[in-house]
Amino acid sequence: MNKELWEKAVAFHGHECPGLALGVRLCEYVQQKLGLGVSHDEELVCIAETDSCPVDAVQAILSCTVGKGNLLYRPTGKTAYNFYNRTTGTSVRVVVRRNSTELTREERMRQILEAPLEALFTTTEVKYPVPETARIFNTLTCALCGEGVAEHMARLQDGKVVCLHCFRAYDR
Ligand SMILES: [Zn+2]
Ligand SMILES: [Zn+2]
Repeated sequence: MNKELWEKAVAFHGHECPGLALGVRLCEYVQQKLGLGVSHDEELVCIAETDSCPVDAVQAILSCTVGKGNLLYRPTGKTAYNFYNRTTGTSVRVVVRRNSTELTREERMRQILEAPLEALFTTTEVKYPVPETARIFNTLTCALCGEGVAEHMARLQDGKVVCLHCFRAYDR
């Protein structure tokens, strides 16, 4: 385990926990599998299937972040992460192996930090096609509240452009 990476992830996440430990090891594994370092723009993309602690390591270490648009969240209730390297076209989905051994929180964290990577993860084909690069959208003005709203999130209501807050959803 790389101590420098661990400290960087802890500083970002705000505490030490088994979930973050798993995230740091996940990053190591992905770097190995896709043969890459830190993503400085969008060449590495992650679709996380869960938003729990490990995903903060992905943001701190692999530089896949929500703000840059190369971290997407598609909840499935699985501790699994789809990664794509846009430069090489390679991809991998990493699934965390289930571990039901009875350990204290501290013991579990140690175990994760020291375990061989293959003991922690398995891989499958990715479940989604590679996402398109982040698009920039026109800003429209909501006819009711006057706030700006990106075109792809706007709705039409009584023939006018409205935002999601002002839209009366029809979802019976
Ligand atoms: Zn945590
Ligand atoms: Zn509005």
